[in-house]
Amino acid sequence: MQEIDWANLGFGYMKTNYNVRCTFKDGKWGEIEVTDSEYINIHMAATALHYGQEIFEGLKAFRGKDGKIRIFRLEENARRIAESAKGIKMEPIPEDIFRKMVVKAVELNAEFVPPYGSGASLYIRPLEIGMSAQVGVKPSTEYLFLILVTPVGPYFKEGFRPTNICVMREFDRVAPKGTGRWKVGGNYAASMAAGERAHELGYSAVLYLDPKEKKYLDECGPANFFAIKDGKYITPDSESILPSITNKSLMQLAEDMGIEVERRHILLEELADITEAAACGTAAVASPVAEIDDLDTGVKYVVSKDGEPGPITTKLYNQLRGVQLGDVEDIHGWNTIVEVNE
Ligand SMILES: *Cc1c(COP(=O)(O)O)cnc(C)c1O
Repeated sequence: MQEIDWANLGFGYMKTNYNVRCTFKDGKWGEIEVTDSEYINIHMAATALHYGQEIFEGLKAFRGKDGKIRIFRLEENARRIAESAKGIKMEPIPEDIFRKMVVKAVELNAEFVPPYGSGASLYIRPLEIGMSAQVGVKPSTEYLFLILVTPVGPYFKEGFRPTNICVMREFDRVAPKGTGRWKVGGNYAASMAAGERAHELGYSAVLYLDPKEKKYLDECGPANFFAIKDGKYITPDSESILPSITNKSLMQLAEDMGIEVERRHILLEELADITEAAACGTAAVASPVAEIDDLDTGVKYVVSKDGEPGPITTKLYNQLRGVQLGDVEDIHGWNTIVEVNE
């Protein structure tokens, strides 16, 4: 295997040894298959290609100081992808098959799990697509569930630094009772124009408002949002938000630290009274926010006065990273340990 410069890896795709697949056909899931092919043989009339029957997940495996590989909260991803499947009328992958396949994908590619201390990790990407050939709009009868893995570099290459985000009302990511609560590829397609616009203007992400009334905070790009207000951890509650496993974990850790947690509607104007804010998700754990600019009203909410990440955000970030790496005791049983003879 080639030498990999782990610390300078980006968030991109790198070929690994194998990917793992399972097909739903004739009313049942088949055997788990292992392949070194990076390609899928797909019918040109497959529902995934025409009508967006595509769902996915994202989770990570880490190598600890003890050399062991830990996969973070895979049961949560198993449950969530099953919910996404039901949401857009696809066939849910059973939790035991999901678990077996994730573990297998990591075992077969163990040499790509970056070393402890590099800041890098193995990104695990499960996806499911509708495969049957049809041109009428109805759910597929055949599905492919596939897991690929690829090593990814540390998210914060220049250190754990806050960035600026913006509020814009020109685009919605999802509809009020739409597919926002599920991890559907189409939600990402719908967010591209807004995301690119924000990047052009120098912002790291868009802080979306609720798509119905445009009064409450929703998601922050492809991540959840949380803030610290009066010493409490507050995070938006909305039907259009994807339930982030990172956010759920941070809420638990906050409670463990004695910090009160509120999951509720948050008015945009409340941003004037927050002392810290961050976007959260698997990619970064927590990405601190310096300033939030409302592009339509011109109001600027300065969250970090000194340009530094807030103390609670930093503490939560370190604690979650610690659990993932095995440096902090895993009191909630979040990690699946994979033993491999390398
Ligand atoms: C995946 C995703 C997140 C983050 O979820 P995690 O489980 O924490 O990685 C947040 N918002 C959206 C829209 C997502 O697709």
